[in-house]
Amino acid sequence: MVVVKNVLCSFCGCVCDDLEVSVEDNKITGVKYACALATEKFLHSQEERNPDPLMRADGGFRKVGLEEALDKAARILAEAKYPLLYGWSNTSCEAIKVGIELTEEVGGVLDNTATVCHGVGLEAIQDVGEPTGTLGKARHRADLIIYWGCNPSQAHIRHTTRYTAFTKGLFRSQRKDRKIVVVDVRKTVTSKTADLFLQIDPGKDYELLSALRMAVRDMEFETEAVAGVPVEKIEELAEMMVSCEFGMLFFGLGLTQSSAKNENIAAAISLVRDLNLKTKFLMLPMRGHYNVTGANKVALWQTGYPFAVDFSHGYPRFNPGETSAADLLVRGEVDAALVVASDPASHMPWAAVKNLANIPVAVVDPTLTATSLLADVRIPAAFNGIEYGGTVYRMDGVALKTRKFVEPPPNCLPDVEVLENILHKVRSLKEVA
Ligand code: SF4
Repeated sequence: MVVVKNVLCSFCGCVCDDLEVSVEDNKITGVKYACALATEKFLHSQEERNPDPLMRADGGFRKVGLEEALDKAARILAEAKYPLLYGWSNTSCEAIKVGIELTEEVGGVLDNTATVCHGVGLEAIQDVGEPTGTLGKARHRADLIIYWGCNPSQAHIRHTTRYTAFTKGLFRSQRKDRKIVVVDVRKTVTSKTADLFLQIDPGKDYELLSALRMAVRDMEFETEAVAGVPVEKIEELAEMMVSCEFGMLFFGLGLTQSSAKNENIAAAISLVRDLNLKTKFLMLPMRGHYNVTGANKVALWQTGYPFAVDFSHGYPRFNPGETSAADLLVRGEVDAALVVASDPASHMPWAAVKNLANIPVAVVDPTLTATSLLADVRIPAAFNGIEYGGTVYRMDGVALKTRKFVEPPPNCLPDVEVLENILHKVRSLKEVA
């Protein structure tokens, strides 16, 4: 048995880098220090997969060779007029880079899962900038942590033990050295551990952020409550904010997806800016998939835009609402799709999924997802961080390298190689045409 130390977890945006994985006869037999979500992935990913390339036939699927599956995926893209290449948050930066080249080659749209989660925050950042820092700063320096619209105790399970409430940092060594605040529409597991919990009316985040900006500037209220929160509580939180030495605001989909969307994030950025006139304050999004940040970064540095990038005019264009995946699918504007390391059939609106089922679809994914069940061809891939290594970006934008420690099944190439193959085949098909 071999014990591999300091393994990175390729599950959520925390990308914990301290796991210990036991391997025997190319099988993962144990994992230490992982949370429940990661333990499940490491212990069962090898067995709960279908390693066969599949192609639709006679109302079902038939097993095919890898080469045939790659040919089919390439033909779907080469014959399309306006294909969508979607997903990218559960794969390596190297694969995403090839995906962008492929999208440009076929004149399609490249979109990643940020389009339905933190994309609006990225729009706000492009408008007004970003007062941000690393998770290390939270761990070592923050004496005030605010979780807004997120529930790390269940979604990013080790966030509080590695970076905030229950960690030992350089300058904050115990729980009592920090204050924890939760703002949410309901009580959560995280809110039970908080020093202050503000229960807000659904969809009223912008109002509460604006009220906090007023309180931070010592302005008076002519009302008893804002967004369902009594003014005394708002003033209490504002006082905690201005009197802390180092504050961090972590925000989740409860903020990005409530009614004002990108304006919520712009308001939060403005609040943090106001606070920086009085103390030190930073903010960070709680990114979900382990490399959704990488998907945005690679798209940004290659095209100038972090998601929803349209190449149909021969140059990159970005106009969320027009060029974003869900909108394109709902309006039935794309005529084919390549889905990589993602499952839009499980997460997108029904109207989008219905139209996805009516166009040719190729899927590249280690697991058999709902999307692969409506695809014309499904190409299995190796697991990043288990069966091959690549670059990923943690939720705070720190780049890390995952490692390989078991061999994938014979048909399962790293998705960067799958995509390079498809790109090569698309170019050959276009030359012949
Ligand atoms: S918190 Fe996230 S990155 Fe850390 S072990 Fe759990 S799933 Fe993996």
